Amino acid sequence: NFPQSDALNRLPKQFFAGLVQKVNRVIAEGHDVINLGQGNPDQPTPDHIVEALKESAGNPEFHKYSPFQGFSFLKQAISTFYKREYDVDIDPESEVAILFGSKTGLVEITQCLLNPGETVLMPDPGYPDYLSGMAMANVNIEFMPLLEKNAFLPDYSQLSDDILNKAKLMFLNYPNNPTSATATNEFFEQTIEVAKARKICVLHDFAYGAIGFDGEKPRSFLQTEGAKEVGIEMYTLSKTYNMAGWRVGFALGNKSVIKALNLVQDHYYVSLFGAIQKASCEALLGPQDCVNELVARYETRRNAFMDAIHEIGWKADAPKGSFFVWLPVPAGYTSESFADLLLEKAHVMVAPGIGFGKMGEGYVRVGLLNEPDRLVEAAKRIGALNLFKK
Ligand code: PLP
Repeated sequence: NFPQSDALNRLPKQFFAGLVQKVNRVIAEGHDVINLGQGNPDQPTPDHIVEALKESAGNPEFHKYSPFQGFSFLKQAISTFYKREYDVDIDPESEVAILFGSKTGLVEITQCLLNPGETVLMPDPGYPDYLSGMAMANVNIEFMPLLEKNAFLPDYSQLSDDILNKAKLMFLNYPNNPTSATATNEFFEQTIEVAKARKICVLHDFAYGAIGFDGEKPRSFLQTEGAKEVGIEMYTLSKTYNMAGWRVGFALGNKSVIKALNLVQDHYYVSLFGAIQKASCEALLGPQDCVNELVARYETRRNAFMDAIHEIGWKADAPKGSFFVWLPVPAGYTSESFADLLLEKAHVMVAPGIGFGKMGEGYVRVGLLNEPDRLVEAAKRIGALNLFKK
């Protein structure tokens, strides 16, 4: 066995890997487990995008190394997409970085901007993968609690001057994983004000940017005046077009941050397979009915699930965006002991809130990644345990 680097040893333990093991055991025992614990989109990529890939894959030009920072045609398509969807102007050459899935950018950003020991602001609860880059870069992490009473938005007035002055980078994510909260323009204005005053770079993760319910489209951070001066937004095709396996993400906004990301990604992965870049243009610029259908599908699932849990006496607010529901755990359980109980007794898997941070305790996350009949069946099985007062 070779000794391992400190950076590797600092990587956070994969909380959810343990959960998958538990589920596999219950399945191996012969039970029909309804998996509401994971966040992997369950639908296929729309046909017209797959066809575009098939056609492009035959083009020998795409069999060579792609240009270092990606093809200009994709950067142009991204710029056109942001103008069409959010009315945001983006210069394709200086304000776009193509990423190998947004996850790479989320990991690389800390290395791009911070030296060891410098401070990052991390939402709690939050998407655990943000922590990976922080661990590799050996930075100091300060958590920003996301509380239900504040609609799961950080309350900057509760962060000390010391922490705000030290912070170099802040992660935000709306629609939010795991709480499903959405952001308002006023919140983004406040964020920009704080970021300017304290010289903090803001990274807004907009992975669920397309998924808003009741006719409300989630806001892009870049729609708020001054956003580009203080930060970037990351977007991914994984959720909007069910393309999680294709690994297409991008960052947009502040030129100096984009330049840094482009430089780092040059060194790691040159750029995505050209045919994938070409087919991504079809996703961004082609027919968008598939996105409307996807949002309608999640909304139907949300409605079915919310009705079914209210029926059993489990009270929670309906999400306005993302494909998650964030639900309170009944008294007497931790998020983990409750998730274990649901798995063992109802054969329903949910994600314990503690896996997303200390402030996630007291909640579980359900993913709307099953058809309505399975979601309703899950709620009925949970109801049969008689844990909630009606
Ligand atoms: N950000 C959030 C909040 C996510 O939930 C996910 C995926 O689950 C990602 C980023 C990763 O997206 P990508 O597939 O582009 O790496």
